Amino acid sequence: MALIKCLECEKEISDAARACPNCGYESRKTEDIEPIVQKTELGELEKNIGAGIAMFVVGFVFIPISIVIMPFGLVLLIPAILLMVYGGAKISGTRSAVCPYCKNESVLNSKTSTNFKCSNCKKLSIVKDSFLEIVE
Ligand SMILES: [Zn+2]
Ligand SMILES: [Zn+2]
Repeated sequence: MALIKCLECEKEISDAARACPNCGYESRKTEDIEPIVQKTELGELEKNIGAGIAMFVVGFVFIPISIVIMPFGLVLLIPAILLMVYGGAKISGTRSAVCPYCKNESVLNSKTSTNFKCSNCKKLSIVKDSFLEIVE
């Protein structure tokens, strides 16, 4: 048994109490808080190999060019690396994913090993075949 704060009068009450003895406010409102789901389903695998290869190749070509024209090449190098990363993701395929903790929608690279880190709440979930599962 622990003490919690009454949401209404902010006095400390037992978490076992159904209602606040001070103001009568019912503290058992946990159902109102959206529960963390154990699993969220992953979306269909989406691949775009043609676009992925094109992006990858463009990025690959830009890297030596950006190195030659350094330090100006720096503005080319970063987009080039990003192109290769996104191109690679399109080749291996991506799936839409919903964070089981905060329901934030994001995209999962299907090659991503076994963990998925939410960009919103920074929590890790485990990647199963077609699910994201919370770490307990
Ligand atoms: Zn109260
Ligand atoms: Zn999250």
